[in-house]
Amino acid sequence: MGELIRIRGLVQGVGFRPTVWRIATGMQLTGDVRNDGEGVLIRLSGPFRIIDRFLQRLEQELPPLARIDAIVRSAWNEPAGDAFVIEESHAGPVQTGVVPDAATCDACREEILDQNNRRYRYPFTNCTHCGPRLSIVSSIPYDRANTSMAGFSQCPACLSEYTNPADRRFHAQPNACPECGPTAWLVDANYRQVEGDAIKRASQLLDEGCIIAIKGIGGFHLACDATNPNAVKNLRLRKQRFDKPFALMARDLDVIGQYAEVDAVSSRQLSSISAPIVLLPRLESHVLAKQVAPDQATLGFMLPYSPLHHLLLENWHKPVVMTSGNLSDEPQCTDSDDAFVRLGGIADYYLLHNRDIVNPVDDSVVRVMAGRPRLIRRARGYAPSSLLLPREFDALPHVLAMGGELKSTLTLLQGRNAVVTQHLGDLEDARTGDAYTATLELYMLLFQFRPEMIAIDLHDGYRSSQLGEAIAADLGISLILIQHHHAHLASVLAENGWPLDAGDVVGLVLDGLGLGEDATFWGGEVFVGNYRKVRRVAWLKPVPMPGGTRAIIEPWRMVYAHLNGTAGLAMFEDKPVNVLQQMLEREVNSPLTSSAGRLFDAVAAALGLYPEAISYEGQAAIALENLAASCDSASAYDFLISDQILDPAPMWEALINDLSMNIDRAVIARRFHLGFAQALIDLALTLCHKHNLDTVALSGGVFQNKLIFEAVTTGLQQGRIQVLSHSQVPTNDGGLSLGQAAVAASRT
Ligand code: ZN
Ligand code: ZN
Ligand code: FE
Repeated sequence: MGELIRIRGLVQGVGFRPTVWRIATGMQLTGDVRNDGEGVLIRLSGPFRIIDRFLQRLEQELPPLARIDAIVRSAWNEPAGDAFVIEESHAGPVQTGVVPDAATCDACREEILDQNNRRYRYPFTNCTHCGPRLSIVSSIPYDRANTSMAGFSQCPACLSEYTNPADRRFHAQPNACPECGPTAWLVDANYRQVEGDAIKRASQLLDEGCIIAIKGIGGFHLACDATNPNAVKNLRLRKQRFDKPFALMARDLDVIGQYAEVDAVSSRQLSSISAPIVLLPRLESHVLAKQVAPDQATLGFMLPYSPLHHLLLENWHKPVVMTSGNLSDEPQCTDSDDAFVRLGGIADYYLLHNRDIVNPVDDSVVRVMAGRPRLIRRARGYAPSSLLLPREFDALPHVLAMGGELKSTLTLLQGRNAVVTQHLGDLEDARTGDAYTATLELYMLLFQFRPEMIAIDLHDGYRSSQLGEAIAADLGISLILIQHHHAHLASVLAENGWPLDAGDVVGLVLDGLGLGEDATFWGGEVFVGNYRKVRRVAWLKPVPMPGGTRAIIEPWRMVYAHLNGTAGLAMFEDKPVNVLQQMLEREVNSPLTSSAGRLFDAVAAALGLYPEAISYEGQAAIALENLAASCDSASAYDFLISDQILDPAPMWEALINDLSMNIDRAVIARRFHLGFAQALIDLALTLCHKHNLDTVALSGGVFQNKLIFEAVTTGLQQGRIQVLSHSQVPTNDGGLSLGQAAVAASRT
């Protein structure tokens, strides 16, 4: 009497079989466990009730990196032996078992701080529950030979851990110790090795104000003392990154708590095995250098996530800047020689090691909004674990979705499993393009993926669209073009498990720019629809972008376009308004856009926030949000909702009037936020009523704005509307590929 238990999910390469073995042995059950192409198969003797108890314990004692998606039980009547054993994997198509990189676990951290442990101060300590994964793998199956640990053979002590099912390091592929594993060293700017303990010296040099390039898990960081204004200023100058905030790392939650407000949800995120950067409300601090995060109401903090970080910050009672090791806009460095070339002139020292980074993986970024963590950048710690779509997707074709142009990701949709790659960056940069292609090849291999169709954005100027077209032609499979904002909507439906045939929702999709079906640029769209198709039922009033893409970088142009023909043009006295006026009158180089992002830029510019030029996407909108957040209460500006058009004209009129009366700009910023949120709520409620719907889905980069997101969510919920929003994939274009995949699959 017994059962065959099939388990699917993230169950390979995460210490799952040893856990099964430990529980089964402890309960004196007999049988066996093995990995195969579908996951894990357990054969267990014993009565139903006991096996019930076994499965309960398995779920309770699941190893940290494992995830069970499904358990299927059936009868098994063969005689078991007199023990419980782990069977070696069977040949055949084995599921890869590649999981995300995980932060150092408590047990490993204790070992490196314990003088009597053989891994005392060893910076590459890891176990089955922690350490590098995706960043070191080059092929499948996930075995040491297919990782950058291949060149290090285990010493007898490590090998005995590796082969003992009762050991925390049983089949831990990157297992290593000072005897047999990788090493770290420190060199100066002339590549001369610095004597002494590399990590101790690096820690001292940081304290002395030096900038150090540190080779980490998924790439290089540039680090400096965040309380040293000179060091931070130097880093900005050398890196040519002038305004964009730097991420910070601190030894523990106590240190972070001195600089930022850490609520319970944020604290759990910081301490999780994914160890993302969490955006936290900033506390007024006298010691943090101003230039760490100029004009920001938030600070991005993370905790140490590798043994090297723990050792480096062991004696630090203040934060360090840990920004990605690159020149502005380029992808992160991963290779030591490359770092020396590309970071030469930036870093004073290099803390290097000889465990190769095979796949670049950036730090992930989380912001807690409406009480839930929301991924704004999904990379280290999250990719490549799959998202589970609704069951009906199992019957649909496999889709490769190429994403957009900015914040690009790829999605491999296999049945209901959607694998979204790590954030790959902006494809305008050629190096990012290379990383994008390399990642595509790796994921196809890791997941043995054969697409049956390719999904791309409508915009044929995107590198991702062009590459997708080439792949489709190459493989002779169909190419599906998907409108940008429809993909956004499908993305939020998919991650919320909205069933394929659950019917329509009202979708509010607000972002920067995406090509619309009428060949204008959309970005303030209200849809009624589902995965398969949407109707554009309302949109932000289109305005011309005088000068095309220049209007994105120079927001004052958008103010001019909005105010064209009204009073309030006095602020443009020193601008080339004649040229602009002619462009607008002759409709030359002035594409129309309904973009909400551009509206935020324009309002910010009107208030004097970056009117001349922004230095990174979203800069003006973020400054506007910060300004609004600094004000407690104000009344909302009105927007005009007529037919299908959301018209900001009354808002502009009131805003110009407020400006002329010298009303505090924070009040104006808040009135705009409240007004826009209220207009969205009113519009969505009206449409829900009209179309007899009770669900509103929110997507697009504008919903990274906490004020807008929380106001709209609350307003809709008070109207008894169910709100679907992003948390596992970014609401910005990082989530686009998931939506493209879902739309393409659903159309068959
Ligand atoms: Zn560990
Ligand atoms: Zn060893
Ligand atoms: Fe977008």
